[in-house]
Amino acid sequence: MDLGLTGKTALICAASKGLGRACALALAREAVSIVITGRGAETLEATAAEIRALTGASVRTAAGDITTEAGRAAALALLPEPDILINNAGGPPPGDFRDFTDQMWHDALNANMLTPIALIREVIDPMIAKKFGRIVNITSGSVKSPIPSIGLSNGARAGLTGFVAGLARQVARHNVTINNLLPGPFNTDRLRTTEARAATAAGISVEDAIAKRGATLPAGRVGDPEEFGAACAFLCAAHSGFIVGQNLLLDGGAFNSTMG
Ligand code: NAP
Repeated sequence: MDLGLTGKTALICAASKGLGRACALALAREAVSIVITGRGAETLEATAAEIRALTGASVRTAAGDITTEAGRAAALALLPEPDILINNAGGPPPGDFRDFTDQMWHDALNANMLTPIALIREVIDPMIAKKFGRIVNITSGSVKSPIPSIGLSNGARAGLTGFVAGLARQVARHNVTINNLLPGPFNTDRLRTTEARAATAAGISVEDAIAKRGATLPAGRVGDPEEFGAACAFLCAAHSGFIVGQNLLLDGGAFNSTMG
């Protein structure tokens, strides 16, 4: 299927690794010219070179922390009017809610709610003027099914979800869509770090811990980031203008319900 994205431009935040990288690669495969961000310049450059080699697409890099004004300005300086914006950043730390300080709450809200909203504010009017825009926020399955140990994430991401539910319906008539992708466990560095703790505790390898985690899901395995990237590219497709304000859960069937 031709997604109709040849020649479009995309800003993909926090994309030197993991789910962001997978979204960048999938869009580059559709001949989208991309800008990717990440704090670590070396990894970011290596990822850009890899995506260029795999796809032949134009890949530019903006090293910096996307949760800061300077980081966002650097990204937008390279691509002020992207056709596609993929919002992503690291997730907040886990813990007992009694230990979450006000600063931790502010940091979580900044990274996982206010930063994507700030970027949306910067790019949305040119999208409306062009009558084409695709915004995808990488959130978490925890928006739908809260994970008690990551209260900061549950709260901050739910705030973003509530806000964009309203905004998505204000801009849809201009062929500008906003949707969210909700990952369950995907095999990225973040998951490997989380599972490393479980592996040490159980005296098994990280690979075995990941396989064990995957075996608990209806799909029988954890997700492959490439699957996530493909879903992202689909939401960005020229034909996806009627998909508005949706929360697409990619969790191998973990969330148990008849509908929705
Ligand atoms: P990952 O493998 O650790 O990759 C994170 C990427 O984001 C890296 O490229 C990292 O590069 C970049 N990054 C992190 N913070 C950044 C910042 N402030 N500014 C710019 N770049 C930043 O993580 P992932 O698994 O892809 O997770 C992506 C998001 O999905 C996270 O919010 C995570 O909580 C959420 N999520 C993931 C899973 C999962 O199973 N993987 C499940 C649910 C939710 P630098 O460190 O160099 O900046």
